[in-house]
Amino acid sequence: MRDERLRPETVVVSAGRPPHVPGAPFSEPVTFASAFVAGGDPEYARYGNPTWTAFEDALGALEGGECVSFASGMAAVSAVAALVPHGGAVVVPRHAYQHTLALLDGGAADGRFEVRRVDIADVDAVEAAMPGAAMVWIESPTNPALEVADVERLAASARAAGALSVVDSTFATPLLQRPLGQGADVVVHSVTKLIAGHSDIVLGAVVADDPDLAARIRHHRGLHGAIPGPMESFLALRGLRTLSVRLERAATNARDLAARLENVPGVVEVRDPGFGTVLAIVLRDAATADRAVDRVRLWIPATSLGGVESTLERRRRWATEAPTIPEGLIRLSVGIEHIDDLADDLLGALAGDDVD
Ligand SMILES: *Cc1c(COP(=O)(O)O)cnc(C)c1O
Repeated sequence: MRDERLRPETVVVSAGRPPHVPGAPFSEPVTFASAFVAGGDPEYARYGNPTWTAFEDALGALEGGECVSFASGMAAVSAVAALVPHGGAVVVPRHAYQHTLALLDGGAADGRFEVRRVDIADVDAVEAAMPGAAMVWIESPTNPALEVADVERLAASARAAGALSVVDSTFATPLLQRPLGQGADVVVHSVTKLIAGHSDIVLGAVVADDPDLAARIRHHRGLHGAIPGPMESFLALRGLRTLSVRLERAATNARDLAARLENVPGVVEVRDPGFGTVLAIVLRDAATADRAVDRVRLWIPATSLGGVESTLERRRRWATEAPTIPEGLIRLSVGIEHIDDLADDLLGALAGDDVD
């Protein structure tokens, strides 16, 4: 659990370490094991592994709850979606990580539950959809529209309506948003992104402060089996150690870049949630946006986000992206390179087109 005396910038460095005893390693080693000698806990490695525990202790301390890690962000999302009882209703953002939407839509298509789509930034609309709902799914900021939800208000009204509130806090990280502290029941992370931070692993996590809820999530993981690999857990914790400094640099770069993108010819709109490392720009159409993405040299054209390297992507290249996302929207995941190099490359790519 979180040591309230320590600041989050310290917790990312200090939590989840072996005890300070002579000869101990600084970091929990990678334990490759399928089973452990009988009489201990765990006995079988689908239920626990000391390398998972080190990462979970650290992320749990940051979020203020009990962390259960998963093989991917989507495994974490699936485990939380499974909390919705048969026949229940889920309030869902109209824009969110597209596979979360696909998973929930799939559950609705199978008749498992009802999905109520809302603009998550519109508090009144979200509250109007809550009566009788079993769960309110919040993603903030949203992918890729970068809408920001009022987590505190929505968590309180979900509780009053008898619904569980869930926050996919991947874009915010535990350093910029602590949903459990704002009254939410469950936090979901794609650890793949900013927490791991180096674009080299896929991992997910759920954090809850109610021990019964955490136990249900843990039980689901043991039965469904989407468990983390110990090597991934080790790398995720190694990534987490530098989250604070990576985030500080990347967020400064993002704000600076957003300012430099204002009034650039051809940029119809700059979307900046005001915190975090993800921005979006809207160009006039798909072809213009595709050409800009083709012209960058330093930025990597790629999906995913949250690594130390800057990446960009025209989101509607995916047929599954929401049709309300503009065809010319490019999502920018801003990394920790020098801002002038990032800006030169991107602005150069944008200037390459004949803008009228
Ligand atoms: C990437 C992502 C996910 C899914 O995580 P994976 O680790 O890719 O399975 C869920 N939510 C958000 C907001 C994401 O960006």
